[in-house]
Amino acid sequence: MRYLVTGGAGFIGSTLCRKLLTEGHSVACLDDLSTGNRENITELDVHERFEFFNHDLTKPFFPDKIDAIFNLACPASPVHYQYNPIRTLKMGTLAMYNVLGMASRLNVPILQASTSEIYGDPSEHPQKESYLGNVNPIGPRACYDEGKRVAEALCVAYESYNNVKVHIARIFNTYGPFMDPKDGRVVSNFIVQALRGKPITVYGNGSQTSSFCFVDDLVDGLIKLLNSDFRGPVNLGNPDEYSMIKFAEIIKKKTNSSSEIVFKDLPEDDPKKRCPDISLAKEFLNWEPKVSLEEGINKTIDWFKQK
Ligand code: UDP
Repeated sequence: MRYLVTGGAGFIGSTLCRKLLTEGHSVACLDDLSTGNRENITELDVHERFEFFNHDLTKPFFPDKIDAIFNLACPASPVHYQYNPIRTLKMGTLAMYNVLGMASRLNVPILQASTSEIYGDPSEHPQKESYLGNVNPIGPRACYDEGKRVAEALCVAYESYNNVKVHIARIFNTYGPFMDPKDGRVVSNFIVQALRGKPITVYGNGSQTSSFCFVDDLVDGLIKLLNSDFRGPVNLGNPDEYSMIKFAEIIKKKTNSSSEIVFKDLPEDDPKKRCPDISLAKEFLNWEPKVSLEEGINKTIDWFKQK
């Protein structure tokens, strides 16, 4: 199979490219390198089955031959997606027309990287796919959350009107090697701060929760979903849930750090609880995360130490 991976130079995208190559497939990796990093994929350049395209998906793309698309291209951390909210919305809209148009022309299936942000600040816990969400359409997260919501709407419109086979993965917080140390996310922030002896910045009082999935588990879920016949969005994440204060203590201990834990303002619209219900993924994809936080965090800390 020859896969197109958009956002292939990003954290999850580059891990997916590596995995597909290991499985013997060919990969056309597309990225505009706005938040992706060419260094994440330089080791893949030697592969004759790997090709890189520096392309901005708000403009159409015409690949020669592909069998399926993983659409991961979008700034994904709050720092990155809020940097230029108009551009983030273009990725949820214009880029989606281009990538779904491509899937339609070439008659190939597409996996859309959607997100737990579809659920906004959820009033249902844990979140099932049937929960319709609580998103502030004019808040600072709207450019990403609403962009991803309209992207889902475009997927189902192309599915019903143009017969495009779409798979929607609602991805919850994911961590692991190749995360951008400067993306401002909690895992990268805490590890980098702890390793450098800098204060560990907990936002608010740290009672808000997240559930962290190791990137290798997530990538396995993405591949299973694209190869399945399951229709409809599927949550992919690890239901192992931690408060941010507890998570800060874990990172401090694991890194043997003398950093103090400090409290900073809670960002507007920060979700209070995030935990996936993964019953659908278990039943229809036979998927569930295998890597414990202990094991995954150790691998991630080791990777950040070499950076
Ligand atoms: N967070 C934190 N300190 C940080 C960065 C994030 O306490 O230095 C919290 C943030 O308030 C949120 C959670 O960690 O509740 C996850 O945020 P992150 O930016 O990692 O990703 P998001 O899920 O918002 O995209």
